[in-house]
Amino acid sequence: TKYAHKINTDPVKSGKTHKDRANRATVEQVLDPRTMRFLAKIINKGILSRINGCISTGKEANVYHGDSDNDTREYAVKIYKTSILVFKDRERYVDGEYRFRNTKNQSNPRKMVKVWAEKEFRNLKRLYLNGIPCPEPVELRSHVLVMEYLTKGQGQPSPKLRDHPFKDIDEIVHYYHQMLYYMRRMYQECRLVHADLSEYNSIVHQDKLYIIDVSQSVEPEHPMALDFLRMDIKNVNDFFSRKKINVYPERLLFKYITE
Ligand code: ATP
Ligand code: MN
Repeated sequence: TKYAHKINTDPVKSGKTHKDRANRATVEQVLDPRTMRFLAKIINKGILSRINGCISTGKEANVYHGDSDNDTREYAVKIYKTSILVFKDRERYVDGEYRFRNTKNQSNPRKMVKVWAEKEFRNLKRLYLNGIPCPEPVELRSHVLVMEYLTKGQGQPSPKLRDHPFKDIDEIVHYYHQMLYYMRRMYQECRLVHADLSEYNSIVHQDKLYIIDVSQSVEPEHPMALDFLRMDIKNVNDFFSRKKINVYPERLLFKYITE
C-alpha cells in the first residue's frame, strides 16, 4: 500500500495496541473519537470502505484519501479541525452571510467547524450543479466532508495550478482565460465570490481547471464580497504575470466578472 498507516475507523476495535498509537500519530489531533464516529457512519453507509492516509495537513482542515470496494472512484475526505487558533481569521467570512447568520455558534469551535464544512458543501454543490469544474460533493457529516478526489489514477493527485508543468505560452494564456471565465460564471451564475482563489486552490485535472477550497466563498451581498473579489483577481493576475504573460488590468477584470 502507498500509505504507511491504515486508520482504524471502527470505534469498537479501538483498544490500546501499538497499531492504534501509530494511527494516532498519523492522524494527529484531528481524528478524535467523535470524528471517528462520523467516519464510521460514512463507512457503514457504504460510501467509503476505508480512509488510507493524509493528502494534506492545512491550517483549518486535513484532507485524507479514501476509497470504496463498491466502485473504482477515489475520494477526498476533508476534516475540519476544531482548534481554536484559526477561528479569529474566519469570522469575517461568516459574519455578514445571511445564509449562516442565525448561528449563535460563533464561540463554540465544534459548531463553527460544522458551519464551515456545511458552507463548503453547499458552495461546492452550487459550483457543481452550475457546471463549474470542481470535485463532486458526495457526503457531509458534521465537520467531515467527502468529495471526489481529483486524481491521475492510483492515488496520484492531479497537480495544483501552481505545480502544473505548462507546455508553452499558449497553454498559460489558455488557463488564464479559463480562470477568468470561471470567476465570471461563479459570480454571475453561482452568485459566489471564491474569496481565497489562487494557484493553490485550483487544480489542473483532465485538461481543465478545477476550483477547490470554497468554504470561505461568499455571495455578492456579503459586505466584503467585492474586496474579496479584488483580492482573487490580484492573486490570479500575480500568478500569471510571474508566468511571463501580459495580464489584463484589474479594474477591467472586475468589470468583466461582475457586469
Ligand atoms: P490549505 O490551508 O492548505 O489551503 P485547506 O485546509 O484550505 O488547505 P483545501 O485547500 O481544500 O484545504 O485542500 C488542501 C489540499 O488538499 C489542496 O491544496 C489539494 O492539494 C488537496 N485536495 C483537496 N481537495 C482535493 C480533491 N478533491 N482532489 C484532490 N486533491 C485535493
Ligand atoms: Mn486550500
